Amino acid sequence: MKKELLRSLPKIDEVLMDEGISALMERIPRETVVDAVRDSVETIRADILAGKITEPSEMKLDTIIDRINHTANKMDIKSLRPVINATGVVLHTNLGRANLSDKAVEQVVSAARSYSTLEYDPEKGTRGSRHIHVENIIKKITGAEAAMAVNNNAAATMLVMAAVGRGREMIVSRGELVEIGGSFRIPDIMKESGSVLVEVGTTNKTRISDYESHINENTAALLKVHTSNYRVIGFTEDVSVKALRELGDKYDLPVIYDMGSGLMTDLGEWGIHEPVVKDGLKDGADLILFSGDKLLGGPQAGIIAGKKELIDKIKSHPLARVVRVDKMTIAALEATLSEYGDRDRALSEIPVLRMLTKSRDELQAECLLLKGMLDEIGDPEDGNPAYTIRIMDDDGVVGGGSAPDSRLQNVVLAIDHRTLSPDSIEEALRKGEPPVIARIKNDSVIIDVRTVDRSGYEIIAERFREIEEKRI
Ligand SMILES: *Cc1c(COP(=O)(O)O)cnc(C)c1O
Repeated sequence: MKKELLRSLPKIDEVLMDEGISALMERIPRETVVDAVRDSVETIRADILAGKITEPSEMKLDTIIDRINHTANKMDIKSLRPVINATGVVLHTNLGRANLSDKAVEQVVSAARSYSTLEYDPEKGTRGSRHIHVENIIKKITGAEAAMAVNNNAAATMLVMAAVGRGREMIVSRGELVEIGGSFRIPDIMKESGSVLVEVGTTNKTRISDYESHINENTAALLKVHTSNYRVIGFTEDVSVKALRELGDKYDLPVIYDMGSGLMTDLGEWGIHEPVVKDGLKDGADLILFSGDKLLGGPQAGIIAGKKELIDKIKSHPLARVVRVDKMTIAALEATLSEYGDRDRALSEIPVLRMLTKSRDELQAECLLLKGMLDEIGDPEDGNPAYTIRIMDDDGVVGGGSAPDSRLQNVVLAIDHRTLSPDSIEEALRKGEPPVIARIKNDSVIIDVRTVDRSGYEIIAERFREIEEKRI
């Protein structure tokens, strides 16, 4: 019998001639499809030898083609792909930080697809500036004289230090020697930029006199770094940008302020306490630096804004070319920034802001909706649902090294299965396609709806259903 089955196994070349396979090749590269055919035929052969396939009916061409389809689709899954973020952490660096607004996505697609005015001025018919697309809108929103965008805020910091402080000294408080994730440390960046870091004050207290006593003819700038991902609390004192401005005026020194998260509009109402970009310039910084993909809610980028004289110097520094942004980033950034022309619009259209400003009532209603879908799994009618689901309050965080002392009020689903462990559920959620990233707290699986769109609920419900069914 096995021999007969093996003999009736289709030849790879035959399968490749099938209509279903040609259709597949229109979507998926030929090589991948061929691999999938080989893989599938080999698996069937192994199943026959192992006695798992015993009937010729299990080897109908249609069945084999279905199997190939499934394998080819799986092989074609891209390494970088969407996930459902059910962690509730809005700026999740590992999951790509900010999702873009619909407008920004549209602009990215159109910049990617078509030639553009990237460095061309159609009015004059001459070469244009890559910077201008975001410069004008940043000027408008922040009141800066000039602006530019680079690859990220780490690059912005490096570039500014190199252009303004190379071979000279920059004064910074010991309380602000920030490390942002692994390899980004202010002192290291400074060393690489060729400027000399002059640390003043102590970890918890730095006074204006500490800066003043270290100023000499070799001082290039006064630097303030926002302590994005930690706060020094208790017996503390730090120097405001306003005070640094006064000192800068006295000695004719620029004040540079690395603001970190790029918050454009005050979110104090929602418990988020971070400096607002505009205030950095209003308080007197000559240059401000901030990220594009933290609270601003745009693409990965570092934005430098402030005095034209300094920005011009930075734009012409050789490193500016090394860290320049591409057209897709510019497209996304311009579109995101233009949403800020209307605050309400920004709060509803920019996903980061929309998620961060969801009210407790709203989150509660969303939890109820998703719970309703999950409650149907198993045999609820017979009083035997698969999962026990509670709606709970939970503390939330902004994430992405932003607003460490902001406490968000989240509402989450805490889910327990009749028999399966929370670890096995968490793993099954994460290993499906698309991965659903949840966490475990007090032995329950937590689904935090703050970061999940309605469109994700069906996927989550489907995954929980699969987990229940595969168990049986
Ligand atoms: C996040 C942050 C950076 C690094 O910004 P990236 O855009 O992640 O490169 C630099 N400085 C401060 C103060 C930050 O908060």
